Amino acid sequence: MSSSSGVRLLTVTTRVSGRRAPLLRVSPGVNLAQRRRLHLAPPFLLDDYTPRYQLLTEVDVAKKRSLAYAHLRNCNLCPRLCGVNRYETTGMCLIGENVKVNVIAPHFGEVVIQFHDSDTDGQVSASEPCIQGHNGSGSVFFSGCNLRCTFCQNHDIAHQRNGFDLTPEELGEWYLKLQHVGNVHNINLVTPEHVVPQVVLSILHARTLGLEVPIVYNTSAFDSLASLELLDGLVDIYMPDFKVWTQKASRRLLKADDYAAAARESVRAMHAQVGDLCFTADGIAKKGLLVRHLVMPGQEDEAREIVRFIAENVSRDTFVNVMEQYRPDAHVGKPTRRRAKRKDDGAEEAEKDARGDVRYAEINRAVTTDEVTAVRKAAEAVGLWRFCDPPGHDGFAI
Ligand code: SF4
Repeated sequence: MSSSSGVRLLTVTTRVSGRRAPLLRVSPGVNLAQRRRLHLAPPFLLDDYTPRYQLLTEVDVAKKRSLAYAHLRNCNLCPRLCGVNRYETTGMCLIGENVKVNVIAPHFGEVVIQFHDSDTDGQVSASEPCIQGHNGSGSVFFSGCNLRCTFCQNHDIAHQRNGFDLTPEELGEWYLKLQHVGNVHNINLVTPEHVVPQVVLSILHARTLGLEVPIVYNTSAFDSLASLELLDGLVDIYMPDFKVWTQKASRRLLKADDYAAAARESVRAMHAQVGDLCFTADGIAKKGLLVRHLVMPGQEDEAREIVRFIAENVSRDTFVNVMEQYRPDAHVGKPTRRRAKRKDDGAEEAEKDARGDVRYAEINRAVTTDEVTAVRKAAEAVGLWRFCDPPGHDGFAI
């Protein structure tokens, strides 16, 4: 007896009772993804977890410290390759030897009121419950960034030098306060690509003070292999946001020559370090890769290439958050600057802006449900199956 889903109902004699009892068996033609529905089961379930930074030897620690200081003196740590001495000046990210921090607090997810085209009811969406858990994620929002996304959803923090200065040691002490006072599940470093040496020093300092929770590296994926090598052994969860695929979109929307080339290399290196996302039995993620993709208006083709890359070149077991909370922000929707040609956009794009009344008119709206669904289906079609879905029960979305 078989059903259209490929699940066959069989009757076999059980050894224990000797009675005939029905069992479910998956027929050979069934897609592997259809069979694997359990996130919280081996191999993605851990008995226990010790953060990677606690396993470093003193020799590893000394090497990382000296490498971090060397990078600060000649910073080529991100794809911008500024080569500046950050004790004396700043590069493209505008941040020197100390970090500038905008917010340090337990974070319970992005709660966003979203409006689709003709649907003004709005909806609330939260981000990753397996990261935030009951007590929140100990989030540190760094000021500054090495990208210049025209649509930046955090532009008041990332595009402006807005916040308070902390030495790496002071930053590490804040991790301890988040752990002891906030009782957070992890330390979540938001937009840290341009402050990797300082982050490395802060984690090493916090380790000596008694930090015990995992480190989440919450990045735009515009990282370099050198910075990821420096972070190896210190970060437990890599959470890259893979934004766009084509060079054209990279130049126009992110103001970077080839963002996707850096992101491809980085995401592969992250996965090589920590593998697929794993949880402990309380439903909290402890180690692995979690890829985010913010769906953008009319950019489904970019997303299709991104999810195909993840499935074919990283892992089909990658945990993916298809995010729908895009809203026009930063430079999007601002009055057009009527210049004939902008060097970084090219004539075609400048022409596009000049035709409209506002800048980046093509992304000057929220995404539609159809667009989000198309990206999700594209991800499923290439074999991805672990998604950050809203919980269909009272527990976490795992
Ligand atoms: S981290 Fe900052 S200074 Fe270093 S290469 Fe990147 S943008 Fe330049």
